Amino acid sequence: MRNMKRYLCSLLGLILIFSLTGCSSTSENTSTTVLSKSISNQNITKQAPQPNINKAPVGIDKTPINGNLKVHYIDVGQADSILIEQGSSSMLIDAGNNEDSNTVKDYISERGITKLNYIVGTHPHEDHIGGLGYIINSFKVDKIYMPKATSNTKSFQDVVSAIKAKGMKVSLPTVGETFKVGSATATILAPNSSSYEDLNNNSIVIRLTFGNNSFMFDGDAEDISEDEMLSKGIDVSADVLKVGHHGSNSSTSQAFLDKVNPKYAVISVGTGNSYGHPHKSTMEKLQAKGIKVYRTDENGTIVATSNGKDITFNVKPGSYSYNKIGAATIKSNNTSKNIVNKSSVKTKTSNNVNNKTVYFTPNGKSYHYNKNCSTLKRSKIILEGSKQEAISLGHADPCNICAGGN
Ligand SMILES: [Zn+2]
Ligand SMILES: [Zn+2]
Repeated sequence: MRNMKRYLCSLLGLILIFSLTGCSSTSENTSTTVLSKSISNQNITKQAPQPNINKAPVGIDKTPINGNLKVHYIDVGQADSILIEQGSSSMLIDAGNNEDSNTVKDYISERGITKLNYIVGTHPHEDHIGGLGYIINSFKVDKIYMPKATSNTKSFQDVVSAIKAKGMKVSLPTVGETFKVGSATATILAPNSSSYEDLNNNSIVIRLTFGNNSFMFDGDAEDISEDEMLSKGIDVSADVLKVGHHGSNSSTSQAFLDKVNPKYAVISVGTGNSYGHPHKSTMEKLQAKGIKVYRTDENGTIVATSNGKDITFNVKPGSYSYNKIGAATIKSNNTSKNIVNKSSVKTKTSNNVNNKTVYFTPNGKSYHYNKNCSTLKRSKIILEGSKQEAISLGHADPCNICAGGN
């Protein structure tokens, strides 16, 4: 026990350098801190309120439109990256995992884009900002929005360094703030609180309108953030919903989906991912409303084109099939995430239930029976100890995949 603590302490420096983070309730998220004492403090400025802030964004965009709006949901596997083009203006929302850096960069370059007017890093999880440092280094950038949250991951540090190297500052999102991407109008809808237990809820949520068409980009915002948008009476209606958190059951509450009331849904998700995305309950909700679903695991890169009246897609809709790993979890009914985490899943219980040796990551909340558990795949440091030690060190949740969730 004492040895293990000492070991952990000595690893602290390494953790800062090597730890990576995931996006699922079953993943090994690294600890994060709300920005107050962080390295980024000097580098982040609160924007003074702009004259074009509308407190209650509503309805149809009356701005005269020019040409088409193109929204590219780039296939980056179990991650997000969305490129938006209108006229000669562009915006990138997230840049996939670190390993997607070149994919995203090449995709943007192949469009003939040399400058991104806006970059939005929805929240500091690696599957959203992993490629962002490289993108910032590769293109001219006018403005970068990121939420007031930090992470101790290398990916996040890379983004901060890239921004610093460019002499830029991060713009914090203000709910109700609007800005133009060509003749399309982007409105920031979330986050509506300054801090959350789960980093996903810090996600910057954007509604983009173009003529009569509208698009919602939810990042990994979960039901808590969705509820806040609804209780504030924010207009979330949209023709196309980028489904929150890769189709997890922690997002897309029925109330939220009813208000967005999209014709089309897009899910950015990797084939056979270990997070159980997209979740059965999400797919059933989309199917019940007859919403056409496009998904990167089946469709590859998805391009939606709007002429201000109609929206067309480059591919045929995908299926309503869901990831079987998540199928057994108890449906989230807006109760706390802990209850979802502890919901009993018995997909693959270890053969050695009585063996008390467990595995965990420095910052993960879970312990694992299986060192090769799929949820540990992205963790570079895997520690070992007795179940009791793991629990006393704060790794108290049994992994839903390998430890039976109990
Ligand atoms: Zn996330
Ligand atoms: Zn994510």
